[in-house]
Amino acid sequence: MYNLAKRLFPICRSITGNGVRQTLSILREYIPLNVVEVPSGTRAFDWTVPDEWNITDAYVNDEYNHRVIDFRRSNLHVVGYSHPVKGWVSGGELMSHLHTLTDKPTAIPYVTSYYNRTWGFCLPFYDLKELYGRRYYVCVDSTLRPGSLTYGELIIPGESRAEILLSTYTCHPSLANDNLSGVVMTTFLAQELLRRKNRYTYRIIFIPETIGAIVYLSRHYREMQAKTIAGYAITCVGTEGRFSYVPSRHPESLTNRATYSTVRGRDCYDYSDRGSDERQYCSPGIDLPVGSLMRQKYHVYRQYHTSDDNLSFISEKGLQESLAMYLSCLDTIENNREWTAVHPCEPQLGRRGLYNKITQDFMAHADGSDLLTIAGNAGLPMDTAIATAKVLHEQGLII
Ligand code: ZN
Repeated sequence: MYNLAKRLFPICRSITGNGVRQTLSILREYIPLNVVEVPSGTRAFDWTVPDEWNITDAYVNDEYNHRVIDFRRSNLHVVGYSHPVKGWVSGGELMSHLHTLTDKPTAIPYVTSYYNRTWGFCLPFYDLKELYGRRYYVCVDSTLRPGSLTYGELIIPGESRAEILLSTYTCHPSLANDNLSGVVMTTFLAQELLRRKNRYTYRIIFIPETIGAIVYLSRHYREMQAKTIAGYAITCVGTEGRFSYVPSRHPESLTNRATYSTVRGRDCYDYSDRGSDERQYCSPGIDLPVGSLMRQKYHVYRQYHTSDDNLSFISEKGLQESLAMYLSCLDTIENNREWTAVHPCEPQLGRRGLYNKITQDFMAHADGSDLLTIAGNAGLPMDTAIATAKVLHEQGLII
């Protein structure tokens, strides 16, 4: 996963454009994604697909023709969706188009302006003090014109038509945890699900954040409302920090119950802490049970939306742990069947070699409730409950 992140890291992605296409075409080496193009101008609920943005170069030169800001060194140096510009500007005018962070003075901030047409550059606050010249030559070699929004989709059919939604976003440029980690982990999760025989159908989408989720929902929400039993907005899964969970809006959703019972020692957030595409999936009128399981959460970690969220901030170990945790949550959901004891009174566990506190407690609560409820009432960890249900079912003691 880390190697894939390394490969994708330099690509200048945005909510539209060739960086997204290039990213999805690399992902297609791993999983059979269906790539969809939605033309600029397409309406999606209260939104409209914007013009497509592409950029080849951008820089600021001083009067001696030295590049003092250079897009080729980091694509974060340019405000995302900057319109093309070429020409001399005064030092004062340049300043009004520069973005820095005084509290993180060595980092380049990540800034976008998708819906207000402007141009701008981002740089470390410490580099700003070098820019005291009278005038500068500014070049943003970009195009901003009708094209399309690009997303990737993979449906993995299961035994049931009921679906689990896995959604991640592809619109961030060179930022590792937010959200190359989500892109690569979702890719490997999809690979694993393709290898398995699944009870549920998986709908896995790689979309630009917000506008992509809204566009996707506008085309599929009725079908998704009818089929989706659980889902995750996958982001910020590349570090080795504690797990964090932003729950879906309805507290009792299967996604929330499965995550709470599977992920221990996590940081708990509230739906009011939402920040990614669960905002769309859980919105009134859509109302899908989608939460977001992360490591350190966006907004919380110091490197968030800066050049410090780079490849040294994430690790293969962090990605592998996150992948394993997502698979555990999906195991919980896949195994959450209702179980009923076959015999009234306790069965005779001793003659089956099953006489122990765990099986006794399981049987004591197998009253037709689902496995999450039984595990909760019996005080059993979910993996133990799954294994116990399997044995008891094979012995014909629960159906
Ligand atoms: Zn972000």
